[in-house]
Amino acid sequence: MEKSKGFCTMTYCFRLYCTETAWLQETKKIYNEVLRFYYEILAKEPELRNQGKQQLLRELEIISVGTKEVRNTKYPVTFGKVPLYFRRAAINDAIRLYRSFESGQEHGTKQAKSFQASPVYYKGMYKEFTKESICLKLYDGHRWNWITCRVDTCGRDFAATERMLSPLLNIGERKTMLHVPVQETVEDVRTVKERLDAAEMICAVSFPGNDCMAVLVLLSSEGEFLESRFVRGGKELAHRRKRILKQIRKSRKCMGGDLKTLPQEENKVLKEKIHHLTDNAAHRVSREVVSFCKDKKVSIIVVPNYKNTLDLNKFGYLSATNYDWLGRRIISYIKYKAFSEGIVTTTVSTKNISSKCYQCGAIIKKYNGESQPGERYYGGKNFVCPNGHKGNTYFNAAMNIGLNFLRDKKIAGTEK
Ligand SMILES: [Zn+2]
Repeated sequence: MEKSKGFCTMTYCFRLYCTETAWLQETKKIYNEVLRFYYEILAKEPELRNQGKQQLLRELEIISVGTKEVRNTKYPVTFGKVPLYFRRAAINDAIRLYRSFESGQEHGTKQAKSFQASPVYYKGMYKEFTKESICLKLYDGHRWNWITCRVDTCGRDFAATERMLSPLLNIGERKTMLHVPVQETVEDVRTVKERLDAAEMICAVSFPGNDCMAVLVLLSSEGEFLESRFVRGGKELAHRRKRILKQIRKSRKCMGGDLKTLPQEENKVLKEKIHHLTDNAAHRVSREVVSFCKDKKVSIIVVPNYKNTLDLNKFGYLSATNYDWLGRRIISYIKYKAFSEGIVTTTVSTKNISSKCYQCGAIIKKYNGESQPGERYYGGKNFVCPNGHKGNTYFNAAMNIGLNFLRDKKIAGTEK
């Protein structure tokens, strides 16, 4: 079957450093004033709301700022002077927010009372966007000024292109992020079924809890084992986490109390550190999985379907020795990274993937070489089944993920 092309939007998040932080706050403030102004008109004018977005935008402008001919408007603007494209971005945001209120009304969504939207920067509001800096038009409370702000792309190669959509300024109290949506071409947007019908290989992935962070197995569409890959780095991550935990324990001792009495600020910084460390690891592993699949021309990735989302606050980053949620994070990164490469990610039930032998289906016994027995179903590193099959537990899990997936698809196929 012919591969069909498609598009997806990827959002790059960059750190923005602006010397005039007050201007950022003023800009956000006036953006939300404009937004509120138009949101309130929308609430008062039900007739207007039935129009298409473009027409509605135009109408809202006519009844607020008027035209060359019409100066007296029904709703004279209450906010200060703003550039045309700044106003339009805010109007579009008002329309979007009002529509989302309308569609959610029956589920109890309430009309918005306060607004904290991030200003969207249309063309004309920014210029000279490079990977080091961007020149932005910001409001100082009285007038609009151009100012060059430094951009930190965290080493990512980025160049503003025609495929770039309007960036957004996520202005926080302490830091500002620049979100840049870019339209990427997806070479292959076929469904899983279409790919399987074309007898394409699959890559099944399991997420163990020791040094090995992901086990990949490549299978033919008939379930024949072709190749495997172990992605390591778990020990290194655990080691670095431990170092941060040590730091925490040390400060805990100094404070003479337990973790809960640690000054909130400090606790937050340490939590952020651990979060950052773990997030980087998840990105690295997901990149490795996707680039392996790309190299091998695999178009389907199969991962376990972890249903219950873990409440990280309950578990706590600090006490987490559990890699289960890291697997989840890796999976979400795999999904979007793979998609832009034309690879689909699909899931399979976690049932029995770690407890049965992939060769005969008998319940396996796990035992340890040097690793500690983990919690959950991730027991020892090695397994043996009553029929004498032996091997690596995580490899076994990955094989089960792949084989279960192919079997389920085959059953679904014959039932039709
Ligand atoms: Zn067996």
